Amino acid sequence: MKKLLVFIVAAMTLMAMLLTGCGGGEQKAAEKVLKVGTEPSFAPFEFQKEGSKELTGFDIDLIKAVCKQAGYKAEISSMGFDALIPAIMSGNLDIAVSGMTITEERKKKVTFSDPYYTSGLIIMVNKDNNEIKSIKDLEGKRIAVQIGTTGEAKGRSVKNAKVTAFNNNVEAAMELKNKGVDAVINDAPVAEYYLATGGNATAKLVGEVMEAEEYGFAVKKDSKLAGELNKALNTLKKNGEYDKIYKTWFGEKKK
Ligand code: GLN
Repeated sequence: MKKLLVFIVAAMTLMAMLLTGCGGGEQKAAEKVLKVGTEPSFAPFEFQKEGSKELTGFDIDLIKAVCKQAGYKAEISSMGFDALIPAIMSGNLDIAVSGMTITEERKKKVTFSDPYYTSGLIIMVNKDNNEIKSIKDLEGKRIAVQIGTTGEAKGRSVKNAKVTAFNNNVEAAMELKNKGVDAVINDAPVAEYYLATGGNATAKLVGEVMEAEEYGFAVKKDSKLAGELNKALNTLKKNGEYDKIYKTWFGEKKK
């Protein structure tokens, strides 16, 4: 009788161990989730898949891979571009990934990872505009930008320009198409993608890409997460994963 009881208790313990998966002695911690925020009107870096709510793009693929490499799961949500840094500061987000340029101004509020992409601003005008050829020609003109971006800062630096800041890049491009503004200032790879996906019916780029800007992942100021993301990013650069993701969105890597 006693033996039977011991057997039953042992069997039950074994079953409990099997069910919870804790038999091996080392308990595997549940995968930690990181809250990642983005503003998805920035194709090909972050945008919605056609006919779906799902986000896609270079940044999305990269941050998922970086988080995975660092032992985390990325949980991605959308918000306004100007809401990203406040959300990092308040702890509502762990990471902002949104084609965000590393600037001295932003570095006062958040910590950036190492750069993961080199970009720069460019001017987009309507095809029939032959007057605007450079930033100087924007003096006194109407410029559309996205709120809180380096494009907005550039627009506001132009003498006598009337700058309208839109919540997203799609609206800014639409305003140009509707001739509500004379130009859009936006990141060159995004403007190029817009033209290549139909925008070139009405719009064109003018002048050179302005000074180089580097994109980084933003985390809470002085968070040790930056180091973990850098380490993971570095691994992906070495093992070819970064190049694979780059190639998916931009073709062969420009050196
Ligand atoms: N790279 C620009 C910036 O950081 C624009 C980013 C964006 O519109 N998503 O301000």
